[in-house]
Amino acid sequence: MSATGSSPSSSNSAKRLEGKVALVTGGATGIGEAIVRLFHEHGAKVCIADIQDEAGQQLRDALGGEELGVMFVHCDVTAEEDVSRAVDAAAGRFGALDVMVNNAGITGAKVTDIRNVDFAEVRRVFDINVHGVFLGMKHAARVMIPRKRGSIVSLASVASAIGGMGPHAYTASKHAVVGLTKSVATELGRHGVRVNCVSPYAVPTPLSMPHLPQGARADDALKDFLAFVGGEANLKGVDLMPRDVAQAVLYLASEEARYVSALNLMVDGGFTAVNNNLKPFDD
Ligand code: NAD
Repeated sequence: MSATGSSPSSSNSAKRLEGKVALVTGGATGIGEAIVRLFHEHGAKVCIADIQDEAGQQLRDALGGEELGVMFVHCDVTAEEDVSRAVDAAAGRFGALDVMVNNAGITGAKVTDIRNVDFAEVRRVFDINVHGVFLGMKHAARVMIPRKRGSIVSLASVASAIGGMGPHAYTASKHAVVGLTKSVATELGRHGVRVNCVSPYAVPTPLSMPHLPQGARADDALKDFLAFVGGEANLKGVDLMPRDVAQAVLYLASEEARYVSALNLMVDGGFTAVNNNLKPFDD
């Protein structure tokens, strides 16, 4: 190691996850799919864990299957035995687990009046977005602690920092992801395991696209989505895409973030730092 702290393992390697094994929950579509693809490009062996078997298997096959280091396991993150089995399957097939990405999540039904919110729906959102993340952390820790290293990255949201960006249960669940991240990072630091989360602004995926306001979905759904969220964004001239979020997850998973833990990395172009209603200093 040099005086600047650089070592062969932390050099600017083109493949930033070479030799690593990662598991991505909800990896069959959307942001999870982008993470799977980017991790694969960066040399990781990747286990896709999802309830959408067909989409997960298609992605696995498109990337070359197990021979090229991509496997699929059926996994419902609300079932502890599924999460445990997925972690063991990835570690068993590829030899270890270095990176756990708790990405699976849902928004729940769009009901804006709390008096009409179905409590069963609140429980369902918490089951996937909070309990699922907890189970991912628990079983990743089980295999990472003995090896004294590992990186756990969970998907939160701008709804982890402010209200009004989703249904009540979604907002509360994403705040809870930040709480879990800090709490588990506190415990696992002594074992050399880093725990972080990533909070994106609106990204076009099957989760977010149906939440467009009425009328903004006419002909070209993607174009309309980007125009609408771009209009509300703080950072102009850039469309936030699933791969941008995957890049932030890649950073936290990689050796480049080897001293970063308990962070909620906002990928929001400054959206949550700005009061979007009252701007007395605007021209
Ligand atoms: P998506 O709906 O495209 O993908 C979610 C994936 O999770 C799907 O493949 C789905 O099958 C899977 N999944 C759902 N329930 C599951 C369960 N019980 N067990 C296992 N897998 C399950 O959604 P996305 O937009 O890619 O969202 C990914 C994550 O990013 C979520 O946690 C979401 O809250 C977060 N996020 C998304 C946005 C956005 O604008 N899209 C913004 C901020 C945060």
